Amino acid sequence: MRYPSRANLQPPYTVRVLIVEDDPLLQDSLTRAMRAAGYASDQAGDGEMALSLLRGGGFDLVILDLGLPKMDGLQVLREMRGAGCLAAVLILTARDGVEDRVKGLDLGADDYLTKPFSVAELEARARALLRRGQGGTPLLSCGTLAYDTVGRRATLGNEPLELSLRELSVLETLLFRQGKVVSKEQLIESLCGYSEEVSGNAIEVYVHRLRKKLEPAGVSIRTMRGLGYLLGEQ
Ligand code: CA
Repeated sequence: MRYPSRANLQPPYTVRVLIVEDDPLLQDSLTRAMRAAGYASDQAGDGEMALSLLRGGGFDLVILDLGLPKMDGLQVLREMRGAGCLAAVLILTARDGVEDRVKGLDLGADDYLTKPFSVAELEARARALLRRGQGGTPLLSCGTLAYDTVGRRATLGNEPLELSLRELSVLETLLFRQGKVVSKEQLIESLCGYSEEVSGNAIEVYVHRLRKKLEPAGVSIRTMRGLGYLLGEQ
């Protein structure tokens, strides 16, 4: 059994993500998030299907739920690593799944997320893993603003920037799509996680606060009437 890897990435290069999740709603959200981030994604709803897709090779990242029908996520991880598959693996675990998390990391997972998580956080972790795989640093920047996608910390110059969790999620979503218009709906989605509701008015408030905080960094968030928001250098 062989698992071809995709080394030596050269642009233009489409990142391929395999989403292994048996909850159809969550699988759907994850798929939309990965596609919105510009990645190609495939889905598997159980462990056996995941392994059979992995055998075809070519995946850069695997988002792997641990509780799966037919074959659980830890077994999938054990088999794929045992067969030399080098794709980055982000495992999804239940809040009380400390033991699973440790086992997963021991078996070669690169990072984990505890359910429930926000889409913005998932995107940040995915991007960080993909960058790590390419030997880059997980830092995003604009003007004098720098953002560490792993530690989820923003700095202006070298000073830490104080942000609420929601401001941070909005900033993260805008930064990932720097120079592109992000719709209000996308921002709402990035904040929702999977349970809370966020209104369009709330988004306007977060954007307003962010503008004030980012002004000294030479970063602007422009309102594109009827379309959304655009983050860039002033
Ligand atoms: Ca599950």
